[in-house]
Amino acid sequence: MQVSVDLARCQSYGQCVFAAPEIFELVGGPEILEYDSAPQERLRLHAERARAACPVQAITIGPAAGPQRDRQPK
Ligand code: SF4
Repeated sequence: MQVSVDLARCQSYGQCVFAAPEIFELVGGPEILEYDSAPQERLRLHAERARAACPVQAITIGPAAGPQRDRQPK
């Protein structure tokens, strides 16, 4: 799974940290969001909760990045 956060939009509200502390963390002061951009698939539900909880819709979730395979006609 791929997770990305639009840090220009993020306001460090921290809702994602409460929803998915395995993925998101606020560090420093002023607090800055750090996150795992490729968390394990088993954390998808937590990631989805974080995306839903973000008040500025800064979180995007996609499938895991992997090698592209071209399909050849048979
Ligand atoms: S909930 Fe949204 S705005 Fe708040 S820290 Fe997370 S990504 Fe940033």
